[in-house]
Amino acid sequence: MTVTVQAIPMLSDNYSWLLTDSVSGKVGIVDPAEAAPAIATLERLGKGLDFIFLTHHHGDHIDGVPELVAKYHPLVVGNGADAHRLPPLDIPVHEGSQVEFGSAKLRVIETPGHTLGHISYYIADGGILLPGDTLFSLGCGRLFEGTATQMFNSIAKYGDLPDDTLVCAGHEYTASNVKFALTIEPDNTALRARAEEVEALRAKGAATLPVSLGQERATNPFLRAKDAEEFARIRAAKDQF
Ligand code: ZN
Ligand code: FE
Repeated sequence: MTVTVQAIPMLSDNYSWLLTDSVSGKVGIVDPAEAAPAIATLERLGKGLDFIFLTHHHGDHIDGVPELVAKYHPLVVGNGADAHRLPPLDIPVHEGSQVEFGSAKLRVIETPGHTLGHISYYIADGGILLPGDTLFSLGCGRLFEGTATQMFNSIAKYGDLPDDTLVCAGHEYTASNVKFALTIEPDNTALRARAEEVEALRAKGAATLPVSLGQERATNPFLRAKDAEEFARIRAAKDQF
């Protein structure tokens, strides 16, 4: 595992993710909503910034980019099809692109639903999934642009990733998601155990992420939906919750 990951809290409930390749020393950041918390973390670590990886165009994922680019001149990576609404891209990517990050590679997975141009990144050498606002712990992103079927198919693309993959999602929504998830599967013992864990973590102000993909498979109603119809029903119920 050469790539390590660390959360940088931003705004009220966003996480930007700091990636470090231990072989080359390269540093990347995912979805910087703000520059200041990123700069503070980089200065504390004594690091520069080599890459910015963007999942989608929403302000709470890109607004820190201009200041970070001006200060560190990193390469900016994002979906080429969404370039018109992203900051200027140095490396436009698409489904299956492999971005070289030091000794490791990030694989691009197109995951439309939350937005049509939303992409995720998977780092096999580190077991890290960066799903942006596609998948949250015990939840999934709202359908601002895509359909429930698109989102179901997008999440299904994570199906071939190992159970021990670290899910590094874009928001700390777990405490509210767990309340809804329990209405879908009140008797799921893994979910009930996760609910207690989440309560304990939030009580001490700790992050509930990363979480393993295996744990999400056992507890997240959106990952457990059997088909697009069931997924759509759960998504609609969550919108009303
Ligand atoms: Zn978003
Ligand atoms: Fe967001």
